[in-house]
Amino acid sequence: MADKTSYHLLAKPAGAACNLRCDYCFFLSKAGLYPGQKQHMTDSVLETYLRQLAESQPGPVCPVAWQGGEPTLMGLDFFRRSIELEHSLGGEGVTFENSIQTNGTLLDEEWCQFLAENGFLVGISLDSPCELHDAYRKDPSGGPTFDRVMRGVELLKKRDVDFNILCTVNATNASHPPEVYRFFRDELDARYIQLIPIVERDNDTGFQEGDRVTARSVDPAEWGTFLNSIFDEWMRSDVGEVFVMMFDWALASWAGAPQSACIFAPTCGRALTLEHNGDLYSCDHYVEPGYLLGNITDTPLARLVNYEQQEAFGRRKQEGLPAVCRDCRYLFACNGACPKDRLLTSPDGEPGLNYLCEGYRSFLEHVDEPMKVMAGLLAQGRAPSDIKGLISAAENETFAGVGRNEECPCGSGLKFKRCHG
Ligand code: SF4
Ligand code: SF4
Repeated sequence: MADKTSYHLLAKPAGAACNLRCDYCFFLSKAGLYPGQKQHMTDSVLETYLRQLAESQPGPVCPVAWQGGEPTLMGLDFFRRSIELEHSLGGEGVTFENSIQTNGTLLDEEWCQFLAENGFLVGISLDSPCELHDAYRKDPSGGPTFDRVMRGVELLKKRDVDFNILCTVNATNASHPPEVYRFFRDELDARYIQLIPIVERDNDTGFQEGDRVTARSVDPAEWGTFLNSIFDEWMRSDVGEVFVMMFDWALASWAGAPQSACIFAPTCGRALTLEHNGDLYSCDHYVEPGYLLGNITDTPLARLVNYEQQEAFGRRKQEGLPAVCRDCRYLFACNGACPKDRLLTSPDGEPGLNYLCEGYRSFLEHVDEPMKVMAGLLAQGRAPSDIKGLISAAENETFAGVGRNEECPCGSGLKFKRCHG
């Protein structure tokens, strides 16, 4: 019997097909892997997928994650059939939990009613307020998409569908951290926010060695200041109310808890991708012929995910670390980050340094002290959000009795009334 260790799988029922043409999308070109094929998961592959997924998960909860391309292009009936199949398989003691990542533009009342009734968690791809979002997220004629995404978000909110935000951080929005964060928190009332840096290799295949990236890619230093700025605001007012995945992942590292984010775990390889025809690949970022493990209609999923080829893929994340990472004081939290972004040669001439290292290092240094405090609170059985009270008490002490026109004691050089006053 196959080993039942847990893994996460993103399924792409419509393959790379999408109704939008975002400039930085790395997946549209994947349609070239299946020339002449309709990118459409058949009912037979769907049934095989759900049955094998349920059989191979170690616990009673079975996560079903739909992604794309744009999965809503499959139409609502496909997902209705998927729920019917889950109900019939659920009789075997398995509970399915569904999520879907979408650009939100095709959501209507009927979709949102379905998503609400079936408890879907919906991930919305949205980059920021209007003009920052529309910089790269375009429709096939190059037109803006922000208003259509927002219409979808409003419909989700109307039906009380759980949603989170997936925001790519790129050359345009990275210099606007407060606007980006406050827009999600205050305008959308989003409580779960995932920030994904855009790092695009500037070559045709995307898999050659080299450190060239496109102009749309986020600058490494700016990635760090972006995270630091949002972290400061989050820590003062939103810990425990707004969940920024990057910060939760960092806290897990400081608290010594298991790392759920593959990019920060020592090894990876347990986050795989299923194409519309049943082909299984090592990772969403490695949907390439060299990383094809097999097809689930020929070989059971449980066997494919545990292939030695896949184990070796996961180990390479650790084995490929340059000395500068192995000696880094933040290795425990960063682990060299995602191998797909390891484009640089380290100062001592070794390949494999992450393009975003400067940003990660700046962020990890910046959060070191507060993370120690929050990890300490957790160890005492207290909530990490208690840090807000500690900060405010410390500030009250520091700023007590300072006159409005005096220099602020924080060292900013500003008058107190223009700074912490
Ligand atoms: S290659 Fe990157 S995204 Fe893929 S599983 Fe490894 S760490 Fe995660
Ligand atoms: S911060 Fe930089 S040097 Fe340190 S582990 Fe991460 S990528 Fe490596």
